[in-house]
Amino acid sequence: MRILVTNDDGIKSEGIKQLVLALKEIGEIYVIAPQREMSACGHGITINQPLMVNNYFLAEDVHAWSVAGTPADCVKLGLRVLLEKKPDLVVSGINRGPNLGTDVLYSGTVSAAIEAVLLGIPAIAISLDSANAKDFSPAQKAAQNLCTLMFKEKLAPDTLLNVNVPNSPLNKIKGYKVTKLGERKYTERFEYHKDPQGKEFYRYSGQVVPPSTDDEDLDVNAVKNNYISVTPIHFDLTNYKIMEQVKKWGLENMGF
Ligand code: MN
Repeated sequence: MRILVTNDDGIKSEGIKQLVLALKEIGEIYVIAPQREMSACGHGITINQPLMVNNYFLAEDVHAWSVAGTPADCVKLGLRVLLEKKPDLVVSGINRGPNLGTDVLYSGTVSAAIEAVLLGIPAIAISLDSANAKDFSPAQKAAQNLCTLMFKEKLAPDTLLNVNVPNSPLNKIKGYKVTKLGERKYTERFEYHKDPQGKEFYRYSGQVVPPSTDDEDLDVNAVKNNYISVTPIHFDLTNYKIMEQVKKWGLENMGF
């Protein structure tokens, strides 16, 4: 199995290294990752700057490139140019911090996986529920299990798996739960500052608001309850339930 690994924390992050070490045991690994941290860059791509590419040593027997771009750039460049043969799977992570609920819309980790799926390659995004995690072994094991399964089971081609691993030791994790995206709200703050030259600026920060329901099918609650959350995601944002309602406005018969 050929696996392309990427992330949004940058090629020097511990999470991508631990992911590569785990996946090396089950496949042939290629790494194409941003040269610096790109967390919360969403699905952005680089169009006005050169995409500088450099070889990078990440681990023995692993072909790795760093790219001065976003996670979506890395996947596009990898699949279109850098890799001679298409990979069987793209895996993005292990992200430092969770990507739950609406986080997926801002996440570079998840966007890399979405990009892979857009280009027809099955993908997994994997995140660890802590910004300072030291123990990657549960996420490593989950990555190995899920890659093996995904390769065998052939998921629908327009779908990726968004995986969130609790920051708990292996023996405390209760297992896997297949979930839906939950509610993810933050107490958002924009702190006002002035720099020494008197220029005004704001700095964003946010604390997670605890979920308002304890529905066990939601990703936010699965992780809270020490399960590894696995959410199948697709990129069709159409609100099918509402289509009929909007049609009833008569738009289509209105002429223009
Ligand atoms: Mn990140």
